[in-house]
Amino acid sequence: MLHGETNLSADGRAARPAGVPGSGQPERWRWPLLLAGIIVVLAMVGGVSWKTTIWAENQSYARLAEEGRDRLILYGAALHSEVEKSRNIPLVLASDPSVVAILGFPPQGGGELEAETSALNRRLQALNESLATSAIYLLDDKGLTLAASNWNDGSGSFVGQKFDFRPYFLAAMQGQPGRYFALGSTSNRPGYYIAMPVRRDGRILGVVVVKTAMDDLEHGWSGGGEKVFVADHSGIVFLTNVASWRFRTAASLDHEARLRIDASRQYGEAAPLAPLDLQEDGLLASLDGNRYVMVSQVLPDGDDWTLHVFLNIDAARAQARNLGFLTAACLALAFLIVISALQRARLMRLYTRDLEQRVAERTAALVDANHRLQSEVAFRQRAEVDLTAKQEELVQATKLAALGQMSAGMVHEINQPLTALRSYADNAVTLLGLGRSEQVRDNLAEIAGLTERIARITGQLKQFARKSTGAAEPVAVRAVTAGALSLIAGRLRNEWVELSWEPPADDVMVWGDDVRLQQVLINILRNALDAMRGQALPRLSLTCWGDGDKVWLAVADNGPGIPASVMPHIFDPFFTTKAAGEGLGLGLSISEGIIRDLGGQLTAADGQEGGAVFTITLRRA
Ligand code: ADP
Repeated sequence: MLHGETNLSADGRAARPAGVPGSGQPERWRWPLLLAGIIVVLAMVGGVSWKTTIWAENQSYARLAEEGRDRLILYGAALHSEVEKSRNIPLVLASDPSVVAILGFPPQGGGELEAETSALNRRLQALNESLATSAIYLLDDKGLTLAASNWNDGSGSFVGQKFDFRPYFLAAMQGQPGRYFALGSTSNRPGYYIAMPVRRDGRILGVVVVKTAMDDLEHGWSGGGEKVFVADHSGIVFLTNVASWRFRTAASLDHEARLRIDASRQYGEAAPLAPLDLQEDGLLASLDGNRYVMVSQVLPDGDDWTLHVFLNIDAARAQARNLGFLTAACLALAFLIVISALQRARLMRLYTRDLEQRVAERTAALVDANHRLQSEVAFRQRAEVDLTAKQEELVQATKLAALGQMSAGMVHEINQPLTALRSYADNAVTLLGLGRSEQVRDNLAEIAGLTERIARITGQLKQFARKSTGAAEPVAVRAVTAGALSLIAGRLRNEWVELSWEPPADDVMVWGDDVRLQQVLINILRNALDAMRGQALPRLSLTCWGDGDKVWLAVADNGPGIPASVMPHIFDPFFTTKAAGEGLGLGLSISEGIIRDLGGQLTAADGQEGGAVFTITLRRA
């Protein structure tokens, strides 16, 4: 293996590497692990969003408490100013001479007392209206009302009513200023009572009382949106902007306190009502099932009054919950992004690994193929060398065969000059005997000419038999053609062939080598002669022409031509239509190879006169 290890299983097939998805063990754990991961992530998201919600809630509660404390100050101040408003009125009235005078009259004071009382009633009425208090009235030392601002209110008038059960009266009769919050026993309206003893010569003659209504204050509190109550020292809610809370207890009452309240009819007949279900928990308080942020303060007025402000937490909780959801969503999104990034990275890793493996396999295959190609090339080169050697041998063998065939013609060719030689030699001997030396010299010259001719014929044969040098060099077309024609001159003559040949100029040169070109030409010429054997008027025509860097040499005959079925095979080695012993079928295949080697081309076609035309194309030199 070049890259990566592949495990082989028992049956020899490649098994998946461990750890790759789909391999046995990890696959079994994949889903449980995934499930556990999802649970952990969900738990984390849930935990963090829960914490965030709690934190946001606490922040909001602290803010609400801050707001509540501002409200406390505001509401406390309003209550204080309401109480303060009427504080000094009884103090002033207690030392008023007409008040003291009325109390000083004997019970049956007659007309004068009546007049005094009537005047006081009017004064108290005017005072009450101008100070916007609820009522101002004068009690004698038995608690009986002698004069009151509401003297002409009909059944609502205090005049003649007894208030000896009220703690403010009892306190004032003790010499203490009486301060007291209660539901009016006649008016049924809640109010704050301030009472002052009226003295003469150190003796307490009666009590002046001012009642300030608090319902306007309560209405004022309703506008703020918060719920508010003020509880007295017993824990009874006496001022509130929630009607259902009024006169209920914020703390449990002991028996004694309950008796005292009942006796003073402080909060009317029904009070105190069922206790409020108030539970405090830090800043929060639960009241009658609803939860609020609660802030409280003990007020400086009255006796241990406590002001409580309740702020609704619904909006804060909803806001905190939204923040929690938002956090959860953000976290989940972040987790998803991280998980998808991890998954992407994992896929990329797998893909890269796969790609690397495939590249490695491909490289290995290419290297392998390259090796095989190299050895193939080496093999082909060796084969080509062998083939070239074989081709050379074949060329030689073909040439020898041709030589054998040509030798008959040659013998005839040489026989002629030989016969002539003999007769010239015989004649020379006779002429020598006659002393005709002049004619003997002529005969000898003829003899020399004839030997010259024989030498030329044998020389050409020698050249034909020669092995080629193989190197291409500039060769004159005219000389090569002439050499080839001279080698078949005997056949041309004996077979009465009409030759048409217009040789080109000497300087028409081509790239080739004369031996091989001559061999090609002889091969084509002999084939043409063979084809024209049964022809009554055999005609052979050679044409040479050039154009640009090319030169063409065409050999046409008027033989039977090449049949269409034969044409595709004529250049195949060992293809011949000739009788056994007449042709090897190698001539054209070798010729075609030679011309190709020289950078040219050999083609065959049908001639205009019905025969065949072989055209050699060569590079001009
Ligand atoms: P061979 O001459 O030994 O048969 P060649 O390769 O020279 O082998 O020729 C192959 C064949 O091509 C010949 O047998 C012949 O059928 C055909 N051929 C070649 N030249 C001619 C031609 N001029 N006219 C007709 N047929 C030809």
